[in-house]
Amino acid sequence: MRCLVVDDEAFMRTLITRILGGLGARDVRACEDGQAALVVVGDGVDVVLCDLNMPGMDGIEFLRHLAGMNYDGAVVLISGEDERVLQTAKTLAQAHELRVLGAVAKPVTPAALGTLLKDATRPTTRRAGPRAPIDPVAVEELREAIASDQLTVFFQPKARVSDRVVVGVESLVRWRHPERGLVPPVAFVGVAEEAGLIDAMTDVVFRQAVAQGGRWRARGLDLKVAVNISVDSLGRYDLPDTLVGIAADAGLPPSQIMLEVTESRLMADIKSPLEVLTRLRMKGVGLSIDDFGTGHSSLEQLRRIPFTELKIDRAFVHGAARDKAARAILESNASLAQSLGMTTVAEGAEDQADVTLVAALGIDLIQGHFFAKPMPAEDFDDWLADWRG
Ligand SMILES: [Mg+2]
Repeated sequence: MRCLVVDDEAFMRTLITRILGGLGARDVRACEDGQAALVVVGDGVDVVLCDLNMPGMDGIEFLRHLAGMNYDGAVVLISGEDERVLQTAKTLAQAHELRVLGAVAKPVTPAALGTLLKDATRPTTRRAGPRAPIDPVAVEELREAIASDQLTVFFQPKARVSDRVVVGVESLVRWRHPERGLVPPVAFVGVAEEAGLIDAMTDVVFRQAVAQGGRWRARGLDLKVAVNISVDSLGRYDLPDTLVGIAADAGLPPSQIMLEVTESRLMADIKSPLEVLTRLRMKGVGLSIDDFGTGHSSLEQLRRIPFTELKIDRAFVHGAARDKAARAILESNASLAQSLGMTTVAEGAEDQADVTLVAALGIDLIQGHFFAKPMPAEDFDDWLADWRG
């Protein structure tokens, strides 16, 4: 049984480690804060024993990140707080679908821990919802789809607000399923991430997108081609050279590529994404921070990663003219990006009121159903011809 003790007090770490040893646990590690603990959890842990009251990342926040990492081991909560706080924390952890063995009030005794840990290694129960263990059939089917070219790319235009010229496209993956027809990404991107297929999928999408970009460019149509990239893929140090090489083969210079980066889960290790993104930027690739305003730590990312574009999430765009809070967020995000010299993109513009507001705020680009839905490359030419009138 691999145990991890998270407590800011050295004395408690030593005490609990000793108790666990006495209970027969062989592999016990201890961390003094949540951030360090998340890294250890990534290595594989069966039971996390976590103090709720810690400076920096507190126990409650730590539990949320633990759930976000899809941690499937057990959790024991420890606190010097009164029983009610401990129970609330337990309920909260269960709401995150974490397997909570119980809560122990300090002082921790061998008897109390021994009773709880009896259940520690029982197999994980099947969870409902998006965190359910992935269906091996779905994984195989997706693997097959990637290998047999069933994934295809749709393109949604990004137009300049000032003169409505289409300056770029976002590439969006679709699955042409032999029986189910066109499957949207929300139905399979999660599976790809869980099953370790995301790199293969990104590769397919990137190749198709830049190939199309190269064909457009050969016809004198200079469109910046954006591809979504999962933070999970940014651990590959070969990525900058690989992507730029693929694009060069397609006849697309790095300056015509935009990578839209979303942080869907906490980055336990930021070193490799930071290096990979910085090197991509140095090669001339544009970096866009996607779904801005909804992520884990968007502002912090903005400070440390050399993004060139900021995409304001649709939640703050559509209907913002009538929604005071959304409008305030839209406005402040736009001016934040402008003051950092970044290109701003408003996503999800669906009606004239959205477009008018976006224009009034000096946002550079607009993308949304009001102009065009994502479409296959073969429809794009016709759409563009109409658009130019
Ligand atoms: Mg995107």
